[in-house]
Amino acid sequence: SVPGKGEAILVAGARGMVGSALVRHLEAAGYERVLAPLRAELDLQDAAATRAYLQRTRPAYIFIAAAKVGGIHANNTYRAQFLHENLAIADNLIAGAHEADVQRLMFLGSSCIYPKLAAQPIREDSLLTGPLEPTNEPYAIAKIAGVKMCEAYNDQYGRQYVSAMPTNLYGPNDNYDLQTSHVLPALIRKAHEAKLRGDTQYVVWGSGTPMREFLYVDDLADACVHMMEQGYDGPLVNIGTGEDVTIRELAETVMQVIGFEGRIVFDASKPDGTPRKLLDVGRLHALGWKHRVDLRQGIALAYEDFLRRFAAA
Ligand code: GDP
Repeated sequence: SVPGKGEAILVAGARGMVGSALVRHLEAAGYERVLAPLRAELDLQDAAATRAYLQRTRPAYIFIAAAKVGGIHANNTYRAQFLHENLAIADNLIAGAHEADVQRLMFLGSSCIYPKLAAQPIREDSLLTGPLEPTNEPYAIAKIAGVKMCEAYNDQYGRQYVSAMPTNLYGPNDNYDLQTSHVLPALIRKAHEAKLRGDTQYVVWGSGTPMREFLYVDDLADACVHMMEQGYDGPLVNIGTGEDVTIRELAETVMQVIGFEGRIVFDASKPDGTPRKLLDVGRLHALGWKHRVDLRQGIALAYEDFLRRFAAA
């Protein structure tokens, strides 16, 4: 059954960009008992602590938005940590939910679970049909394990554990550290700083030719809550816009929104990663949901959040 407004809903990873958007969204929708434990209260890598927490709280629904995440450089550098930590989080929460008799949850992954050379736009059924992109293979393997755990608990125990795979996300509470961030926050920061310094150029990694799809994180939260409220109980669902841009186009749009007038310099010593990852959103649209925030509008909103958080510093 669909959780009532007074029932406990756990958002694991509530401090992160995705988790904090889910908390905002659930509270705005009138859910009165949104559990959002911070790392100091609940270490999701601690199996015993996670199990004890779930036994004590027995949420009616769990959103698994907790993960060790990062951009292409972080994924490729901290390979062991990305695999180990994400496997532990998925295992502790999914197995722990089952043991605590939690019937419904949503596991959030990423579009990098699909094969590097999957046909575009990427359909959900292309999972495990080919080799992964090497730069984020460890993260992808952990996320695929989470998807398969959900399926296995449904098969063996009749649980209703669903998985949603968002495209590249951005928005409030994003990570703006240039070494570990994803491309969009990195470009916002670089264009902002270049504008302040009066530079004539800014550096964009790779060749500028890879194509990426971007979804504003509040749209993701809206899609997830929509699925929960519909009682969605089917296979893996992609969550994206169904539209993509080249990294060069993205860099130009960021410059326009921020008002930095300069030249783009491509740093070819940095990896391009996968050439394209556009999600097929047919299954999502069939559930009656479509994104609302377009890329330019979303970048403007993200930039406002960036200024609020960092301009004073
Ligand atoms: P990916 O989607 O897993 O490849 O991760 P990213 O969001 O980190 O990178 C996407 C694309 O943007 C890659 O082709 C990067 O080389 C490119 N890119 C361009 N400039 C930057 C930058 O400053 N930071 C990051 N992280 N990526 C950048």
